[in-house]
Amino acid sequence: DPRIAGISSAIRVIPNFPKPGIMFQDITTMLLDTKAFKDTIDLFVERYRDKNISVVAGVEARGKPNKLPGEVISEEYSLEYGTDKMEMHVGAVEAGERALVIDDLIATGGTLCAAVKLLERVGVNVVECACVIELLGLKGRERLGDRPLFVLVNAT
Ligand code: IMP
Repeated sequence: DPRIAGISSAIRVIPNFPKPGIMFQDITTMLLDTKAFKDTIDLFVERYRDKNISVVAGVEARGKPNKLPGEVISEEYSLEYGTDKMEMHVGAVEAGERALVIDDLIATGGTLCAAVKLLERVGVNVVECACVIELLGLKGRERLGDRPLFVLVNAT
């Protein structure tokens, strides 16, 4: 798709963030580029508008456990060093719903996997996961097993 190149070039790469050796993919520059942002949204809408999606689930940026006031279910997941925990309100979604899970980027797949597990535990059918960027080489896609993953831009 001819729109992908513009999206890709609107993503800023910041070397050595958050630590030495990491090439951080920063989508905030793409969000400020009205054409690239619109193209990104359009590509997702075109892919999912006829898929009977009832809920679009996103992982909160820099989300931390113990931030939701109601009853939650939680899923622990592994990070490069140690573990983190993701939480979702009980009642946020209903069994039988058809979910699209979206994040900016998949690296090891730990984050998306935890999100998928939270939804599946309450009987939601995760139709697909979608990211703007896939970091190749970390095998995040494999961690998702049979669940399909759609990405717009590949990075290394
Ligand atoms: P994973 O759990 O290892 O797949 O890491 C993906 C999660 O970490 C996503 O929620 C991303 O937002 C975040 N992340 C990891 N690397 C980057 C990056 O280079 N840019 C932006 N977010 C990143």
